[in-house]
This record gives sequence, C-alpha cells and structure tokens, in this order.
Amino acid sequence: MKVAENLCQVKSKIEKACERSGRRPEDVTVIAVTKYVSNERAQEAVDSGVLHLAENRKEGLLEKQETIHDDRVTWHLIGTLQTRKVKEIVGKVDYFHALDRLKLANELNKRITEGKLKCFVEMNISGEESKHGITEAELDDFIDKLAEFDHLQVVGLMTMAPNTEDSDVIRQVFHRLRILRDRIRDRKIIYAPCSELSMGMSHDYEIAVEEGATFVRIGTSLVGNE
Ligand SMILES: *Cc1c(COP(=O)(O)O)cnc(C)c1O
Repeated sequence: MKVAENLCQVKSKIEKACERSGRRPEDVTVIAVTKYVSNERAQEAVDSGVLHLAENRKEGLLEKQETIHDDRVTWHLIGTLQTRKVKEIVGKVDYFHALDRLKLANELNKRITEGKLKCFVEMNISGEESKHGITEAELDDFIDKLAEFDHLQVVGLMTMAPNTEDSDVIRQVFHRLRILRDRIRDRKIIYAPCSELSMGMSHDYEIAVEEGATFVRIGTSLVGNE
C-alpha cells in the first residue's frame, strides 16, 4: 500500500475518534515511525505530507537524516537513549519522547549548548516490568528535580499501552496518563508546560485519540513494518 493511501485511512479514523470525543482533528499530530522501513519509504511518507518522523534508536534517526534533507521535517526520538550516546544526537532531535531518568536529563542538559530540547517524560502506567518509564508515584518529584536543567522543557507525558488485546485496559492506561498530564500542567511550571500527550500506536491510536492524545506514533499502519 502507498503511504498516501494508509494516511487517508489513518486520518479518517482519527477524525471519527475526534467526533466521538468532541475533539478537533487539527489538535492531533501524526508521527510516522520509520524504524522498520527503508529511507525511500520514509521519504515517501514526507512526500505524502507527513512532516513528523520518528525513530526509536539514535542510529536509525541519524541514518534517515542523512538521506532526507527537508527543512520541513520535525524529528522525534521515541526510544530510550544511553547516556553515552547523548552527544551524538544533540542538535538533531526536535522532540525526545523517552525522558525517564535524571542521569539522562543531566547529560542532555550538559551537552545542549543553545535552546531547549522539547521532552516528554515517559511513564510506566501499567507497571509492566519490561517497560521503561517512571511510575506515577515518582512523577512529581521527578518533575521538581528537572528544574535545574535549563536546556530541557517538559512539553508533555508519553506512554506505551500494555501488551494486551483488552481495549478497556488500554483505555484505562491512556486515561490515567491524561489525568497525570492535567495535574502537572495545572501546576503551571515554567519549564514544564506539559500540555501534550504522546500516546497511541498502530493498534490503539483511535483509543488514544478518544482519550486526548495530541501526538500519535504510528509505524505499521502508516509506513508498514518491512
Ligand atoms: C515502534 C514504536 C511505535 C510504532 O509502533 P507500530 O505498532 O508499528 O505503530 C510507537 N512508539 C514507540 C515508542 C515505538 O518504539
């Protein structure tokens, strides 16, 4: 399938999810996750009008950037990052979705020399051991401790749904992330406006949109997985 055709489907599903939940489609940004696909396929996504691209590993991100030269593209790093690799991505990422430890925050802050990196704090809501992210109980303290890092801005919270077919369970996780987002946002912290919600992938983005997602990260259903 052409990316353009998949994009039509994704957009129409997002519009319907917005209708069901009284939201505006323009408040939902589609990010194409290109980690499984070739540079050519990623370029096709850009040519189809998807101007937000994401990779989960820094190697993949740098590789895509070497072939896609388009100033209109916003680059997202959505997977965890090893502290020692931070210097390689500084200045090359617009949004980082996986801030989950102070050591990483410290390293990012140290390496960034100008401006602020837009970060999502990654949350582990479901409590699955295999998942990255901080717990609800740690959130407020974590946000407080980010105050000392002048080059980081917490634009929102991010999570991955648990590995289950049970859509009620998935919905509860997204709903919970929204409540936490609202709570931090309402504290009106200068370095943590926290107005965004990065949640929803190929199998669950419609639920995520119903629950308030402002960024959905879609790989398989948009650009494919091979
Ligand atoms: C791979 C990945 C996605 C996209 O997954 P699909 O199921 O292919 O849509 C979204 N978010 C993160 C963090 C990922 O690693």
